[in-house]
Amino acid sequence: MKVTIIRRVVQLAVLVLFCLPPLLAGWGVFGLFAGSDEQMPTPADGVFFGSLSSSSVGGVTLFDPLAALEVFAASHSLELAALVGALLVLVVYGIIRSRAFCGWVCPVNLLGEGADWLRRKLGIAVPERTVPRRTKLVVAAAVVGLSALVGFPVFEAVSPIGAMNKGLVFGGIAGMGTLAAVLVAELFFSRRIWCRSLCPLGGVYQAIGRAGQVNVAINHEACIHCDQCKAACLADPVILEPAVDGDELLVRAGDCMVCGACVDACPTEALRFQLGRRPR
Ligand code: SF4
Ligand code: SF4
Repeated sequence: MKVTIIRRVVQLAVLVLFCLPPLLAGWGVFGLFAGSDEQMPTPADGVFFGSLSSSSVGGVTLFDPLAALEVFAASHSLELAALVGALLVLVVYGIIRSRAFCGWVCPVNLLGEGADWLRRKLGIAVPERTVPRRTKLVVAAAVVGLSALVGFPVFEAVSPIGAMNKGLVFGGIAGMGTLAAVLVAELFFSRRIWCRSLCPLGGVYQAIGRAGQVNVAINHEACIHCDQCKAACLADPVILEPAVDGDELLVRAGDCMVCGACVDACPTEALRFQLGRRPR
């Protein structure tokens, strides 16, 4: 349970971090500025401001790589600041483990884990894998292609990823419909269907995931093949199979979110995190 507790703290801290600047500047549905003639402070005056689509950290602009691709496709042009901002994000997450974004940062994954908890409490049984996990690569390509066709970034208009913090602070409803649909699908149709199989941003990160340097490693001598790690996996149970079956010493799949759910679930401590891709 140790990794999950740390991860939960990080997930909630990220949500608060994105909500704080507008609240501190007196913006949003809880804002205090209405009716004043004084020049208003803006959230952008602070060290950190933005959303999970684009943000500014100490004057450096960061871009969600999928949002940047959609904007480039929609405008049929490359904007240098967005390109640099997206590459920075890709390089940092890519070195760690690109889908660490999904496991540790994205609020939709937090919602999906809430749905898991609720389903267990209500005793609702749903299948594990109704849609192949590689579908999200196709969705990512379709989203970029469609953006080029219609001339605006289509996924950004309905994305549930930034919807939670925008909704909490500004009462915004963009993306809330998708968020509600994700919750219903996770509760009643298929476990973790959005993050495992459909999210196009997860698809972008999956594509470069194998380059990551934080990995789950297995001690084959300690493994008793109970499959509890697979039952706990937030990404897809099959990504643990090569390691559990004795063919690999690491979980190599680009889909691994380094969430640590498998490490926590293993009763014999056969699984642990290791730095680097070289088996030890
Ligand atoms: S293999 Fe382990 S660390 Fe990777 S996503 Fe599955 S549960 Fe999380
Ligand atoms: S939970 Fe641990 S012991 Fe059980 S199959 Fe996975 S690695 Fe092996």
